[in-house]
Amino acid sequence: SAKVIDGKAVAKQIKDEIKIEVLKMKDAIGVVPGLAVILVGDRKDSATYVRNKKKACEAVGITSYEICLPEDSTEEDVLKHIADYNENPKVHGILIQLPLPRHMDEARILNAVSIDKDVDGFHPLNIGLLAKRDREPFFVSCTPKGCIELLHRYGITIKGKRAVIIGRSNIVGLPVSLLLQREDATITIVHSRTENPEEIVRQADIIVSAAGKANMVRGSWIKPGAVIIDVGINPIDDPESPRGYRLVGDVCYDEACKVASAITPVPGGVGPMTIAMLLSNTLDSAKRALKFE
Ligand code: NAD
Repeated sequence: SAKVIDGKAVAKQIKDEIKIEVLKMKDAIGVVPGLAVILVGDRKDSATYVRNKKKACEAVGITSYEICLPEDSTEEDVLKHIADYNENPKVHGILIQLPLPRHMDEARILNAVSIDKDVDGFHPLNIGLLAKRDREPFFVSCTPKGCIELLHRYGITIKGKRAVIIGRSNIVGLPVSLLLQREDATITIVHSRTENPEEIVRQADIIVSAAGKANMVRGSWIKPGAVIIDVGINPIDDPESPRGYRLVGDVCYDEACKVASAITPVPGGVGPMTIAMLLSNTLDSAKRALKFE
C-alpha cells in the first residue's frame, strides 16, 4: 500500500529550521521578521485561519501584525492599510485573507501589495515571473510551494514525469501547474469543463488535486505507482464526530492507497505545509530586505 507523505512532520521540521534562523537574525542584527495580515469581514473560517497564522508566527519568533476591518469597509479603507504596511519597515510580508467581501475588487486589492512583500505570491507580477521561467518570482504561493516541497523532501522525481493537476484556480491549480512545469514535468490541467477527466488523470505519474470535491478521484482513476498530492479540504457529514462532520480530500483515500505509491492524507498532508511556507516566505523576505545572509 502507498507510502503516507507526512506533511505535518515535514512542516514541523521546516518550522524548527525557521525558528533557528529567526533567532540567528535577532542575535546578529536585533531584528525579527514581521508578517501583517488584513482580515475583512466576519467569516468564521477566515478568522480561524488568521488565528492559526498568528500562532504559527509566535511559535517561530516572527512578529505578527493584524488588522480586522468590518464587512462593510470600502476598498479605499483596505488600500490605505496596505499602503501603510507597504511603507512599514518592520513588516516584511503582507497577507490579505481571502475571500474578500463580494463588493470588493479582489484583483485591485491584491495588486496594491508591494511585490517584495507579497508573501502569498498572488500579485500578478509574481505569477507572471513564475510563468516566464527566465527569472525567479519574489515569492511563490504557499500551498503550491508546499506541494512541491513535499515531493522534494520525499525524493520524488518530477523532471520528465507526467503531472496532471486537477483545478485551475488562481490560488492553487494555476500556480501548481506553473511550478511543476518549472521543475520540468509535462503538465496537463483538468478542470470542471474537461471531458473524461478520469482518462487523463489515469496517465499521470503525479496527481495534484485541488478541485474541492470530496472523494472525486477514485482508485480506478489512478495509474499504479502514481504519487498523489491531495490539496482538497472538504467537510462531509459524520454523525460519529463530535463536530458532526469531518474533513476529507478530493481523492478517495482508501481506494488510492491500494494503487498509488505515495499519497498525502487529509488532514495532515498539504494543509500544515501551507503555513510553514508562509513563515518561510516571510523569513526570506526579511533576509532580502535586511540583506542578511
Ligand atoms: P476553487 O473552487 O477556486 O477551484 C476549484 C477548481 O477545481 C476550479 O478550477 C474548477 O474548474 C475545478 N473543478 C471543480 N470541479 C471539478 C471537477 N468535477 N472536475 C475537475 N475539476 C473540477 O478552489 P481552490 O481555492 O483552488 O481550492 C481547491 C481545494 O483546495 C478546496 O477544497 C480548498 O479547501 C483546498 N485548499 C487547501 C489549501 C491547503 O492549505 N491545503 C489551500 C487552498 C485551498
